[in-house]
Amino acid sequence: IPSDLPDEVDQLIFNRLHTDEKMFEAVLAFHRTKPIPKINVPANHGKFLSFLIRMMGAKHILEVGTLAGYSTVWMAKDLPADGKVTTIDFDENHIKIAEQTFAMTNMQDKIRLMHGRAVECLESLLKEKKAGLIPSFDFIFIDADKENNPIYLDYCVELARSGTVIVADNMVRDGKVITEDDKAPNIRGIRQYFQKLQEDPRLDSTALQTIGHKGWDGFAITMIK
Ligand code: SAM
Repeated sequence: IPSDLPDEVDQLIFNRLHTDEKMFEAVLAFHRTKPIPKINVPANHGKFLSFLIRMMGAKHILEVGTLAGYSTVWMAKDLPADGKVTTIDFDENHIKIAEQTFAMTNMQDKIRLMHGRAVECLESLLKEKKAGLIPSFDFIFIDADKENNPIYLDYCVELARSGTVIVADNMVRDGKVITEDDKAPNIRGIRQYFQKLQEDPRLDSTALQTIGHKGWDGFAITMIK
């Protein structure tokens, strides 16, 4: 594939299908003024997450890896009044910008931002669930450090119910999931995640490869049986 063609096709998609999304453009413009990595989902992936949530009628959403809240806002956008996104990040700077993002989009009431290491936050969510303080999550988006993906999956399954959908991003990494050796912790995490999806009899999964202006990647999608 000529290297600039996926970029151009993304532009076509954005120009034709994403013209009525001023709020998301404003969020990205705000984030461009901030010292944060440009590792948010692209607009069409954000919208795809929103579609999955709306198609399922999901109300209780969990995100591992907030960054500045771009994907969070996509997932919160069309939730009903009793819906909520719980999102987790440990980076002070990201948290601060995410709070501003939720304020500027008027989404504060739909979002619970948990500040801390993902494993610890997931552990405390599990305690809340066992105490009957929160319901099971209907939809989960895993998008933090890939190294710990297998641990996140274990927690997410405990926090889910039959029918919950779990999406995990960056599962292909320019094909490194095949070509790179196991020394890179993130690649090891991705491989172990695939293995867990294969071996856990409670899970039914597939994965899709994606290409666009952010390169060649993909996501895994799992349904709890
Ligand atoms: N979902 C975001 C979006 O599309 O807008 C992008 C998330 S970014 C790829 C990954 C985030 O995970 C970063 O903000 C990083 O600080 C956070 N993160 C990485 N390791 C973490 C950990 N162990 N605990 C909590 N957050 C973590």
